[in-house]
Amino acid sequence: MLSAVNMATDPTYIDVAIALPVETTFTYRVPDDMRPLALPGKRVLVPFGKRRVTGYMLGFCERHDLKSIKDILDVPDEIPLFPESMIPFFKWIADYYMYPIGEVIKCALPGGLNMYDFTLVEITESGREVITDPSLTPVEQKMLRHIANGPSSFTDIFKNFGKKISGSLIRRLEDRGLITTRRTLKRSRVNPNTERYVVLNEHTTLPESMSVQRQKIIDRLRMEKEVSLKTLTQMVPSAGRMIKSMADAGYVSVVHRRVYRDPFGEAIQPDTLHTLTQEQENVTANILRSLGKGYSAHLLTGVTGSGKTEVYMRLAAEAIQRGYSVIILVPEIALISQMERRFRSRFGDCVALLHSGLSDGERYDQWMRIVSGEASIALGARSAVFAPFKHIGMIVVDEEHDPSYKQESSLRYHARDLAVVRAKQSGCTVLLGSATPSIQSYYNAVTKKFSQGVLTERVENRPLPEVAIVDLREYRDGRGAKKIITPSLHRAMKETLERGEQVLLFLNRRGFSSLSVCASCGEAIRCKNCDISLTFHKEENVYKCHYCGFCLLSNSKCTSCGSSSFQLLGLGTEKVEAAVQSLFPEARVSRMDRDTITRKESIVSILRALKNREIDVLVGTQMVAKGHDFPHITLVGIICADLSLNFPDFRAGERTFQLLAQVAGRAGRGDTPGRVILQTFNPQHFSILTAKDQDFKAFYGTEILYRKALNYPPFSRIIQIRIAGKDKNKTGRYAHDMGRVCQAIQKRDKTFLTSIEILGPIEASLQKIAAHYRWQILLKGISSQSLHQFVHCLFLERIYKTASKDIQIVIDVDPLYMM
Ligand code: ADP
Ligand code: ZN
Ligand code: ZN
Repeated sequence: MLSAVNMATDPTYIDVAIALPVETTFTYRVPDDMRPLALPGKRVLVPFGKRRVTGYMLGFCERHDLKSIKDILDVPDEIPLFPESMIPFFKWIADYYMYPIGEVIKCALPGGLNMYDFTLVEITESGREVITDPSLTPVEQKMLRHIANGPSSFTDIFKNFGKKISGSLIRRLEDRGLITTRRTLKRSRVNPNTERYVVLNEHTTLPESMSVQRQKIIDRLRMEKEVSLKTLTQMVPSAGRMIKSMADAGYVSVVHRRVYRDPFGEAIQPDTLHTLTQEQENVTANILRSLGKGYSAHLLTGVTGSGKTEVYMRLAAEAIQRGYSVIILVPEIALISQMERRFRSRFGDCVALLHSGLSDGERYDQWMRIVSGEASIALGARSAVFAPFKHIGMIVVDEEHDPSYKQESSLRYHARDLAVVRAKQSGCTVLLGSATPSIQSYYNAVTKKFSQGVLTERVENRPLPEVAIVDLREYRDGRGAKKIITPSLHRAMKETLERGEQVLLFLNRRGFSSLSVCASCGEAIRCKNCDISLTFHKEENVYKCHYCGFCLLSNSKCTSCGSSSFQLLGLGTEKVEAAVQSLFPEARVSRMDRDTITRKESIVSILRALKNREIDVLVGTQMVAKGHDFPHITLVGIICADLSLNFPDFRAGERTFQLLAQVAGRAGRGDTPGRVILQTFNPQHFSILTAKDQDFKAFYGTEILYRKALNYPPFSRIIQIRIAGKDKNKTGRYAHDMGRVCQAIQKRDKTFLTSIEILGPIEASLQKIAAHYRWQILLKGISSQSLHQFVHCLFLERIYKTASKDIQIVIDVDPLYMM
């Protein structure tokens, strides 16, 4: 339909989304000579203000008689980077996450594609003459000397001279004719990788006699038609020179061919198909019935090891068979290598990978393999939801509950939610899988928005690990290592290591240390309105709720038992590692967390060491909780479950359940059954008890009541407005002003009185990050429409528009970590 409409509109004018923080799209004229090149989905270079910037063509549009309309300057792409069918998806995202459409597209596309303008500063002849002139200040002299070595960019100058150089100083020097500035275009960093290939020319008569080496090359070319110069050089070291003279003589031609940089490491063996279990068979058949028949959404639950991945692969195979493409989302890069191996061994070369662990060039290549139709499966982390397929048959979101599906910077999207939206728009199947589904998705299954499939058994009936709970309150007087590793855990570790097996110690720690619990009863101090843990604010010496602002003095008594002794839970993985070393000096201990893992490589090397049994004890954060398969880990120790339970967030219980159930699932995936020891101050908490039994239904049954009582999602929607600034007072004042504006909007439009609840402004629970003071306002609404309407009213207010310079405002729709 779209193309019919386009045909009718004039291809002279084109709608362009610009990759800059601007609200709307812009219309440009396509000059005649570029008419054949202009197509939606391609990038364009356009003049914008004084600059030239990259934009994306969204479609042709009505004739505009505006005089000021400008011409596009260039169309750098040969083929569109995304299909036209994705444009409504981008528009939906821009709308829902309140983010500029051009920036949405920029986020979706592989990095390194953009071209942009920057200013170069150059010294003039008269500048050179006066370099040492005493009328210049020392800073001016220094700067002139610096650029006398060659043109410099602003960034470079500021880097070298810091604050001493101001824009006005540069302008002054320019006015005096000592320097010039000019705008230059920076080309995109990524260009297609090409390689030289040699072809034997047809109808040439080759000379009668040739050297042995030449003959070797010719024979090879006869056999294979086209051979890369690289291969020929491996065969005959001097091939380069020979080919040149043979080309000059007209015997062969050299052509440039696109090649894809291969992101895959080792050679992968093809796998053998399993016979599906009866449960797998049923689930697969069920979903197959709706495949290819428009939108349908399914939630597949089943403990780790119950064979979900096998189900994904069967469905993917069927979808591809029918000519569709498939997107498989996996939460973290760390997990991709495992999934990648399984998909590659079954599907071979038609798998494209998309994740942040690839270099710009690799990502670009993978992207183009999808665009060109060479790949039919895209496997990747959250950004793979943007894979530019035209005919999607199925989108799989594995471990759909995983928080890493939420992007926590720039465009704050949730890839699982977007997978559902994209499936709806493109009329395909979406399959969410998890052992511990999110409350949100399970609620959707309960309310019949999703159909549900369940795998109840582990493949080959491998037993689930046995979980023992250790009450930390009994050890609260312990010292040093004993406080971290209780006697029961110590004993279990000793037994495991003596058997030559491996131990995993898990500690949840997401940059948060001011959580405190009552030392006698283990309860955290909670807000009486919001039921989330309060955070300690040192300066004011109070405990504060960072949703509603409720305060308690620091010397308050525990509301459950009356005791006034509180204990700070300030544990880190380093401390745990040290404790292990002191208790087991012989053991080979490694640590895996954000500090030790900076690159994909280091994850892989730790995992490899674990697999080769070069590590006896691995200490880690949530990174280790993800679905790796380590058959020799037979003991998992959870150091302090309360760290996540008392997190100041309404999802703390959900996340604790998920983490514990997932970590417990790590033990005993091999032939030996596993053991889990779970240390906690709250042995009776339902999140912990249900996680012990891996009983998601029981957990959901309790959790959902609490969500309903306090009107948290899925019974409401939340938008968080984050306000940050370097100046403490200014930021606070601004936050309060914004709060008053919110109140005023609510007063003015009475419908908001019942549909929107305004919480805050209040200092964020992490009050200061990277020298910024942080405040937040939470907007809770009965529907996302009313919330969006409310925020749009706020956008129109002067206070919102004038924030710009010292104050940053971030709108987070459906926030996950409200820190
Ligand atoms: P999940 O994704 O639910 O954790 P997997 O699909 O990874 O489960 O399956 C766990 C293990 O069982 C894998 O090693 C897989 O190869 C194996 N497996 C899956 N389905 C079968 C089957 N039908 N028969 C035998 N082994 C299977
Ligand atoms: Zn108490
Ligand atoms: Zn509160």
